[in-house]
Amino acid sequence: MLPGMRRFALALVSLCAVIAAGPLAQGASPLQYRFTFPEPQHRWMQVDATFPDLPPAALELRMSRSSPGRYSLHEFAKNVYDVHAFGSDGAELETTRPDPYGWNVPRHGAAVTVKYKVYGDRIDGTYLAIDETHAHVNMPAAIMWAHGLDNRPSTLTFEQPAGMHWTVATQLHPGTNALEFTAPNLQYLMDSPLEFGPVAMREFSVGSSKFRFAAHHTGSDADLDGYVKDVEKIVRQEGAVYGEYPSYEPGYYTFLGDYLPYAGGDGMEHRNSTVMTEAATIAKDRERLLDIAAHEFFHCWNVERIRPQGLEPFDFERANMTDSLWLAEGFTQYYGPLMLQRANLVDLAETAGTIAGLVNTVELSPAHEFRSAVDMSRMAPFIDGGRGNDRTNWPRTVISYYPFGGAIALALDLTLRERSDGRVTLDDFMRAMWRTYGKPGGGREGYVDHPYSLADAEARLADVSGDARFAHEFFARYIEGHEVADYRGLLTAAGLVVKKANPGRAWLGSVFDQRDRGHVASLVLPTWPIYAAGVEQDDDLREVDGQRVASAQELESVLRRHKPGDRVPIVFVERSGDSKSATVTLAEDPRLDVVPVERGGTLTAGQKAFRDRWLGPQEMK
Ligand SMILES: [Zn+2]
Ligand SMILES: [Zn+2]
Repeated sequence: MLPGMRRFALALVSLCAVIAAGPLAQGASPLQYRFTFPEPQHRWMQVDATFPDLPPAALELRMSRSSPGRYSLHEFAKNVYDVHAFGSDGAELETTRPDPYGWNVPRHGAAVTVKYKVYGDRIDGTYLAIDETHAHVNMPAAIMWAHGLDNRPSTLTFEQPAGMHWTVATQLHPGTNALEFTAPNLQYLMDSPLEFGPVAMREFSVGSSKFRFAAHHTGSDADLDGYVKDVEKIVRQEGAVYGEYPSYEPGYYTFLGDYLPYAGGDGMEHRNSTVMTEAATIAKDRERLLDIAAHEFFHCWNVERIRPQGLEPFDFERANMTDSLWLAEGFTQYYGPLMLQRANLVDLAETAGTIAGLVNTVELSPAHEFRSAVDMSRMAPFIDGGRGNDRTNWPRTVISYYPFGGAIALALDLTLRERSDGRVTLDDFMRAMWRTYGKPGGGREGYVDHPYSLADAEARLADVSGDARFAHEFFARYIEGHEVADYRGLLTAAGLVVKKANPGRAWLGSVFDQRDRGHVASLVLPTWPIYAAGVEQDDDLREVDGQRVASAQELESVLRRHKPGDRVPIVFVERSGDSKSATVTLAEDPRLDVVPVERGGTLTAGQKAFRDRWLGPQEMK
């Protein structure tokens, strides 16, 4: 790999010089952001932002309320303080507050510099984190921008905290020195997270495409080397799905991994990079970290370039809504673990377990009766990082578009394979979406000119399946409708058996976990036998079949004496203090397992061939 990497480094120098000159050569003066860290130990930074060549109207400065890829609203203005605006002569200018998110400068000359402090102490894919170990910057949480200047390029400069020798990793374009970067416009700037710290960089190439892994972690160099080799296997398998890699605008794609004991757990996709943060180590949590990398990298096609309508362009002042997160996130959720399997990084038992998770999620939840996959997608602004003080009944009415969409992808992949005898697969559908909506790109860097609609996705399914009626029916039943696919039937073709995890075991609902001591701590679902008895969250279940049950174990031992269909008396105390009695008809534990048929049965040659084509390693075509 080493000679390749040397060539890569040389190529980078000339390429970056060209790109850096690009956005700045268009006439408009760039906006300038300067970041300094006077007291990193106190977790704030100083930002000085200069807006030159201004029209005479009031300058409307804004902190974002949203962040690319995170669909709920966030009030990033809440951590901004000590805000002052100055003219180019250094005199302070009056500012007003039109709303909680903005500062207006009503009267000013040709240029305004705003200086402010911003506090940040959350390491993830949305917020800002500053301490003595690094500055982990998601731009929407850090920078003030101005109405009407979306198309202006910007230059960002970082100053080393006292005594530090940090380096920067980002998808921003390199500037004239190691601590200067440029962005062609606001959309690209906001989409560009940045790690400023003791970054360990690894590089690899696949064909002419370049990849960088920038890690801030507590493990050894050998840990990182081995891990990045596995990441490369994933990158190769994902490239094989699409047949090619996107043209990454800076000339490379960058994985940003912050694996620190004080990191939040997150993965966030961006156009030419991803942020992955976990309180984890490569040595202990390698498979989980690879799973996140597989998911996030798949997004450089699916969502970053194959973009659903509603997400393009990203709105920094209100929540975006799309009908298609079941595809943008759900299909990505399906492909992540599938890529680990194709790259031989997990075994069949693990993949079967992942599939069981998807099947259980959709089959055991009553929520699809109320909301289709499209409806679930529209819930994203409330779910994805959104938090209210009031309770919701989501366990009954919402299935996350991640597993819901993942299960739809599984059903569609298996259906396409079966009806075409393996000639047409979900990979063909993804490739059709890529060629039609992703690959054509955008007239401006960071934009997608052809975001797809639900009808577009259905039309591409009609193309690849050669059957418009099939495509229409699939969308009507499983995506816009409320039906659940026949996973048992579909998985048989691959020699995978769906069966009850605890056959014959009596069950009254998953009422309490190991810690709950008889207290019903979560919503009771209508599919649980105990729902009809009137038991609800916050009640105490006291007796089952005449016996006191103060723990999950005690409940289990009572139920083991019974079989499904038995009627047993229960006593429970409502949160009002009222004691009630009822009779519950026990059901069979509905939870499902997915197991390879060869465990106890015979894998046919046809099933083996189907499975190998589906789960085996693929070559770039
Ligand atoms: Zn870091
Ligand atoms: Zn995702």
